[in-house]
Amino acid sequence: MNDAPHPASDPARPASVAQTSGVVVAVDGTSGSGKSSTCRAVADRLGLRYLDTGAQYRAMTWWMLAQGIDVHDADAVAAAAGRPDIVSGTDPLGPTIAVDGTDVSVEIRTDAVNAAVSPVSAVPAVRERLVALQRELVGEGGIVVEGRDIASVVWPQAEVKVYLTADPAARAARRALENGGADVGATEASLLARDKIDSGRAVAPLTRVHGAIHIDSTHQTLEQVVDLVAGLVEEGMTAVGGS
Ligand code: C5P
Repeated sequence: MNDAPHPASDPARPASVAQTSGVVVAVDGTSGSGKSSTCRAVADRLGLRYLDTGAQYRAMTWWMLAQGIDVHDADAVAAAAGRPDIVSGTDPLGPTIAVDGTDVSVEIRTDAVNAAVSPVSAVPAVRERLVALQRELVGEGGIVVEGRDIASVVWPQAEVKVYLTADPAARAARRALENGGADVGATEASLLARDKIDSGRAVAPLTRVHGAIHIDSTHQTLEQVVDLVAGLVEEGMTAVGGS
């Protein structure tokens, strides 16, 4: 499942890459705060793998919708949560997500999935299944992982923990642009609705853990945020604590 080249075995890599090759970087934060772009670039720069846990929750949700399961019926969702086979490819330059052998990278970004993913993700059986999958992948070492509960639940022992946020208007503008000029107002409403459920749910709510470095990306370019996070990894600054 580890489809990225192993950095430590490549003599052409700079020393800093070899030093960070076993590190786990946990990046949690709100929807649209720039987690994906940041994590992929940091992983690529440091020769690490990349895991988008949001894509796994989206894949589970896409499958539930395709099966005609009522995503607001928590018992029905829980009963079906063990059925789809979900596989994540962890190459930061070309991450993949497949359900039962079919790539669903495009399908998981639709409005229907956006609207259903937070209720599905709040179901404990869904989280148990996907957290187990995530721990298996992270256990192979050397990875940047993005999500909502990575530092709090999935991998509290991560060497570097980042909590990434941005103002809702900035997040909506970026996400709308990514989605080919979608309506910014509607995009912001969708992001805020997901934030509310993700932060308020009983199991593994979005939270900033003690020791996580808070980065607000509102007024920073992607490159600045990538430099900051990669710098944290390289300098081993986790012991310094929050902002
Ligand atoms: O990161 P992304 O916005 O694609 O995540 C989609 C949804 O998946 C989130 O709104 C949240 O409901 C859920 N999620 C989660 N835990 C994670 C990652 C994502 O509950 N670790």
